[in-house]
Amino acid sequence: MSGVFIVFEGVDGAGKSTACRMAAEALRARGIQTEVTAEPTHEGIGAFIRSGSAGSISQRTESLLFVADRNDHTERIARMLDSGATVLCDRYFASTVAYQSAGLAGDSTDRDWLISINSDFIGRPDVTILLDIDPEVGLGRVDTRGEEVSKFENLPFLRQVRENYLRLAREYGFQVVDASGDRDAVLAEVMAIIDRVV
Ligand code: ADP
Ligand code: MG
Repeated sequence: MSGVFIVFEGVDGAGKSTACRMAAEALRARGIQTEVTAEPTHEGIGAFIRSGSAGSISQRTESLLFVADRNDHTERIARMLDSGATVLCDRYFASTVAYQSAGLAGDSTDRDWLISINSDFIGRPDVTILLDIDPEVGLGRVDTRGEEVSKFENLPFLRQVRENYLRLAREYGFQVVDASGDRDAVLAEVMAIIDRVV
């Protein structure tokens, strides 16, 4: 039996991790075997990316690292799906395209190339849920999260990332959820989408 593969996307502070956790609780409460996973992963190349050990590398190199991490991650996700689990994945293919094609310090990467390097390595989500939010609201939430602010967390850059996500949503048929509401309102919309595929 194969499980259902659900991806959450959105700018920093949109509420991806929160929605993943709450949706997982809701699914498990119904007796549905559910795994939550995230990118960059916490293993191998994902851990290397998160550690910042790569130092100052070009966006193209960084993009390849994200895809390399995704390749290993996709194999693990496939095993989870094979075991019958529903998999909730916090960031996937669209993150690389939305973030790396938005110029950071004048260094943007060609969108078609980003899509092409992903094409051989990614699984096919049953649904991708884009939590859409004004990045200013998202960053305000991140500020109160008490974590270190990453280099990606600046407003003009994230506005471009949001537009990139919305374009991908049109092209790839993502489900777009207004993520500006409170946690329960967002969860209700997310569960309505999940219920159509689980
Ligand atoms: P992301 O994973 O997309 O970066 P998080 O889920 O970590 O976002 O949420 C960022 C912060 O905003 C967290 O402190 C979280 O508790 C809070 N948060 C998440 N969803 C909502 C919401 N719908 N309304 C208000 N705050 C939220
Ligand atoms: Mg998160």
